[in-house]
Amino acid sequence: MHVSKFCLKNILLQEAPVSHLSGSFANGRISQTYLFSGLKSTGRFRTALSFASLLQCQSPVRDLAENLPDACGVCDSCRRIEAGSHPDVRHITPDGYEIRIDQVRAMQETAVLKPTMGNWQIFIIDPADRLNTFSANSLLKILEEAPSYVVFILIAGGTSAVLPTILSRSEIVRFQVPSHESARQQLVKSYSLTPQQASRIYSWSEGRFGSAVSLAAEDFQLKHEPAGISESHADFLNELEGFSLDLQSRFDEAGGLDEALRMVADLENGMFVPLQVARKEFCRSLVMSAGLPASFPLMFSQMFLDRLDQAKKQIRRTFDGLMTDARSAYSPAMIKEIDAQINSALSAWVLGQVGELFSGLFNWYSDALRWAGSEDETLLLNLDRKDDIITLAEVDSIDLLRQRIGMLEESIYLINRYVQPSLVIENVLTQIGGPEA
Ligand SMILES: [Zn+2]
Repeated sequence: MHVSKFCLKNILLQEAPVSHLSGSFANGRISQTYLFSGLKSTGRFRTALSFASLLQCQSPVRDLAENLPDACGVCDSCRRIEAGSHPDVRHITPDGYEIRIDQVRAMQETAVLKPTMGNWQIFIIDPADRLNTFSANSLLKILEEAPSYVVFILIAGGTSAVLPTILSRSEIVRFQVPSHESARQQLVKSYSLTPQQASRIYSWSEGRFGSAVSLAAEDFQLKHEPAGISESHADFLNELEGFSLDLQSRFDEAGGLDEALRMVADLENGMFVPLQVARKEFCRSLVMSAGLPASFPLMFSQMFLDRLDQAKKQIRRTFDGLMTDARSAYSPAMIKEIDAQINSALSAWVLGQVGELFSGLFNWYSDALRWAGSEDETLLLNLDRKDDIITLAEVDSIDLLRQRIGMLEESIYLINRYVQPSLVIENVLTQIGGPEA
């Protein structure tokens, strides 16, 4: 018998939110508004659907720890939620880049209707960070007036992402990033991986547990031999190109402007595994190299940014085509706004790619610093490269490691302040590569 994946028992490493939510259900104390606060990839959305399943379930079971209730996963209601076709569970996502006021107004019209199938009318607003001033104020009005059978679940990066007036009406459920060690143990247990495989997958995901779970579920293998700097650098740029082509073809297949806008809004969540792996290897070879050729920082920075720029232009061209087709359906003001949204999303994507590279380097130095301070391998993100971390911790002094971590933090800050990326990248590579050997 098929069992829905959206049951609280399937939420891994988030014991506190799970028992909090299941406990409120058991006590009959359901709040009108929940704020699921936490970083991406911590399971907020899965938990929202699993909680919605429990609320609507036709025969809840006592399946959780401490005999707490959970959705059965097999009734008509549970199946519909999994299929995305439950009439009383709605997922509100940005229309384009933002959640707009007309979406919130549509919610308001539905919220006054009695549930058609379940006991509750549930709205999952995801991410609430993308409400704009108008839609957030309009939402606040609905929260104030909604009937008692309405439940709102707001998903956000943090409590500061929503209006204080909304926050004060919300029950906050916090999602923590699981510790490295518990994440890896869970991967071993749930996906029958060896500890080495689990640690590799976790390291590829840069510590994002949800991404690691997707990788583990895909059961995917890649050759993973340490490569020299020139080889890993070529691999990285090739995979970046592969990633761009993949993105472009997906945009080319978009069914229309709306779909393409949803895709552009979701760009930052995308993960392209071969690129992750190649970036990881490139970072490894950078931090482990004794010295880089003096011309390398400038050359690399140009090639890297060129590739990103080409991908950006190609996606932009696809959009221009879609916008020409859709011109009659939108007012000039809307077209102008959509245009601005696309540009800002694409620029954010490019900066995001630069940021990922810096975070990769940051993770290596942080691992070395953790090792130097504790010699505790369970703290390492790149546990699959423990020998390299130990070498790094031996070669670089604690002061130097700290200095490099500080330099990378500052570089991430500068990139987000729109300082010319080429300058920042060159500076980073010049500093970590050292003089030519
Ligand atoms: Zn059920």
